[in-house]
Amino acid sequence: MNLRLCTRCILPETFPNIKFDADGVCHHCHQEESALAKSIAKKAEYRQKLDDLISATRDKTPAYDAIMAYSGGKDSSYTLKLLKERYGLRIIALTLDNHFVSPTAWDNIRAVVDKLGVDHMTFRPSWPLLKTLFCVTAREDIFSPATLLRASTICTACIGIVKSLVLKTALEMSIPLVGFGWSPGQAPIQSAIMKTNPSLIRQNQKALKAALPPDLLSSMAPYLLPDNYYDLYKDAFPYNIHPLAFFDYDEERIKTELKEIDWRAPTNTDTNSTNCMLNGFANQCHIQRHGFHPYVWEIANMVRQGIMSRADGIEKIYSPQNPEQVLYAQQKLGL
Ligand SMILES: [Zn+2]
Repeated sequence: MNLRLCTRCILPETFPNIKFDADGVCHHCHQEESALAKSIAKKAEYRQKLDDLISATRDKTPAYDAIMAYSGGKDSSYTLKLLKERYGLRIIALTLDNHFVSPTAWDNIRAVVDKLGVDHMTFRPSWPLLKTLFCVTAREDIFSPATLLRASTICTACIGIVKSLVLKTALEMSIPLVGFGWSPGQAPIQSAIMKTNPSLIRQNQKALKAALPPDLLSSMAPYLLPDNYYDLYKDAFPYNIHPLAFFDYDEERIKTELKEIDWRAPTNTDTNSTNCMLNGFANQCHIQRHGFHPYVWEIANMVRQGIMSRADGIEKIYSPQNPEQVLYAQQKLGL
């Protein structure tokens, strides 16, 4: 590999605005040092915060205590297990069927929700709509430049629909907690328990609508928040929680615990996503356009936090995408 990498994390020289010191350590590693020390101390504080929040919200609404954005991947499966087994919450899991969920992920979704005894629903947007959205985002970066540092444009579009749908469903069903399976590298601990703010959500939705191709906007309306919801449900906006930011995170232990709930590791997807067959192609589009892997920020964070070894991180990020999977997605999208 000719690419120069930070000697501590694995960020490459092609990562926008990166600077290296004389030892080859990147400025993100230096900036994160103090935050990292604090976040270790914060873990216990956040576990307490979640205990308090759950005591305050549990059994206060008719149907569910929490809705989980459930991809069937290992992180969201593990989060679902945690919320169900540790806290005994009444949960409904929601899966966005983006038409690229791997067969193994479907097997896992059914097995896990059955084993845990949680309700589950699938939302499958129409294929012509998603095909157009994925084709547009495969070719063009329609969101803000900042989003490109964290994810591919295809992923950002898909996750935008997921976030919007779970929030909409939470409001309509009076569910006070929305669970996400973000890994400790994907989202910082400071945002791990956060009440959704209607005016901020309104801004995000506005930005999403502005970025979407105009001809898709009206057909995507069912997935977005209607304008009257901000008033209608103003006292019912839920808390977003992503507990993996403050529970000990160890991939091997997580996989062992997941075996207990009949979750099996898929073999036919790329090394970063355990559930989505579009991911390899999305990664490849991003790497070709921007010269760095869309997961490198997340994995660099995990390496820095000592959750993943540097060698494993390098293998995850700097191995080529699975060509069969890339081809599968390309052909399905007609690209
Ligand atoms: Zn670094």
